[in-house]
Parts: sequence; C-alpha cells; structure tokens
Amino acid sequence: MSAGVKGSFHLSLVDGGIIIKLGGSVITYKNVECSPRLKLIKRICSEISKLNFPMLLIHGAGSYAHPIVKEYGIHLGYRSPEQLKAFTETCIQLRVLNNIILKELKKHDVAAAPIHPSSSMVMDKGEIVEWNIAPVEGLLNMGLTPLLHGDVVYDRSRGFSIVSGDRLATYLADVLRPSMVIFGCDVDGVYSSDPKSTSDVKLLPKITPTTYRELTSAFKVPEGFDVTGGMKAKVEEAVKLAEKGVESVVINLLKPQNLTKLITGKPVTCTRITPEG
Ligand code: ADP
Repeated sequence: MSAGVKGSFHLSLVDGGIIIKLGGSVITYKNVECSPRLKLIKRICSEISKLNFPMLLIHGAGSYAHPIVKEYGIHLGYRSPEQLKAFTETCIQLRVLNNIILKELKKHDVAAAPIHPSSSMVMDKGEIVEWNIAPVEGLLNMGLTPLLHGDVVYDRSRGFSIVSGDRLATYLADVLRPSMVIFGCDVDGVYSSDPKSTSDVKLLPKITPTTYRELTSAFKVPEGFDVTGGMKAKVEEAVKLAEKGVESVVINLLKPQNLTKLITGKPVTCTRITPEG
C-alpha cells in the first residue's frame, strides 16, 4: 500500500492528468450541519480508484464549514475575539471531513496525501498572494494523490479569509496544467438559470469566455449558508482558467459512472468551459 519510493517518480498533471473538485453539495448534505453523504463518497472513491490517471483531488466544505463560517462572519475577516474559537472549530470540522474522504480513498487503495492549504498559504483581501505548492507537486510526483480542501486561511489585511475549493482548483490548474479540471456538483452542468429555482431552464453544453459575457442573468447570489459564491463564482473561475488555455467541466457527481464516462471520453451530460475556438 505504500507508494514505495524507489528511484524517482515523474508523475505530473501535464500529460493527461486531471484535477477533480468534489463539490460540497456532493459530499455533504448542504442543509444539515456536518452530515456527510457517505454512500456517495464511497461510490466516488471507488470510481476514482479505477481511473488510471495522475490526479489531484480537492473537496469543498459543504455543511462542515459554511454554517459556522457564516454565523461568525469568518469569510468577512477578523472582527471580534469570539471568531477565534469559531476559526478553530472550522479547522476541526474541515479535517474531520478530509479524514472521512482520506480513509475512504485508502479503503479503495488510493494512496492520498492530505494537504491543508491554511498551513502554507497567505491571502490578502481574499486573494491568494503566497502559496508554497512544493508539497503538492512533490507528493504528486511520487505517485500520491494530493487531497486538498477549501480552508480558512491567514489574510494580511483581513486577519483571515476563506479560500474555496473552486479557487484552489483553478489556481493549481494554472500552475500544474492538467488536461482538464472537473467540478463535480449536484446538477448536470451550468443552466440558463438555477435549475432548482425554475423548470424553464436549458443546459448549456459549452461556455467560452465570449459566450459567458452574455450569461449574466443565469446566476443569483446563493441563498442559505453558502459563503463561497456558488455556481456563479465557480463558472467565473473556470472562465478565467479557459482564458489561460485549460478546460473545465461542470458535471453531476450524484449520478453513478458520470466521472468515469467523462474521464474515459464517453458521452455524458455536462457543461464544458473551454478556451475560444
Ligand atoms: P458545490 O458546493 O458542490 O461546489 P455549488 O453549491 O457552489 O456547488 O453550486 C451548485 C449549485 O448551484 C446547484 O445546486 C444549483 O442549485 C446552483 N445554481 C445556481 N445557478 C445555477 C445555474 N445557472 N446552473 C446550474 N446550477 C446553478
């Protein structure tokens, strides 16, 4: 079960590797605090274990962090000492969720390496300004699967900020140049409007930076306790990445085999956010 470091490994995401972001809406019940979707986590880990690609995994926080972050305004930065305990509690819950996924991956013989962004990242006004990703690259090169998560992070101006799993995915994709970034969530892709609010919607199979500019009415500010901007922020991130030449896909991971079909090039319902052309 160990990666068995003999000689040198040279795995990277450049040659066909992928970044998979497991959305908080997939791995947790978003409306019930700290409730994992265990069956889904097991099934997704099983699918991942059968995919023979270098990959990097990131998971969202879902109901493990959004409620407490919102209650104490952690995403808005430091305001009062009572936030400090909430900061710690958020760290604890994120690690609990991270461990659930880590253990499930191990059960499926995926050797993953948990990496907590807060240990090596500096933000300023909510933007990543410093991040030593040497551990991510090094462990990936050894054949391990880095497992990161959205996190609470030191922020030079605000004291602390939230870095979303979506932002981690696009930041790392810009550096590591995977063949694709997969945003797994609980809907089939990006629609003309929120499919949970109205049935009069159509799925957008492809978005480019140009077509995105015509889409401003598709997204509303998320209701409930989501503090990281929901689908709008995700697509904005993916469009910026498409401008840098990396394709993203928004896909429903509640559906069995969707991930496998996408990665093995089989037809599957999704939205591709692609560079122009
Ligand atoms: P995750 O936390 O899993 O990354 P998000 O909650 O950020 O996922 O985004 C998924 C949610 O975005 C869906 O559950 C859906 O209700 C909502 N949503 C809002 N607008 C749209 C849209 N135009 N197309 C698709 N989903 C949308």
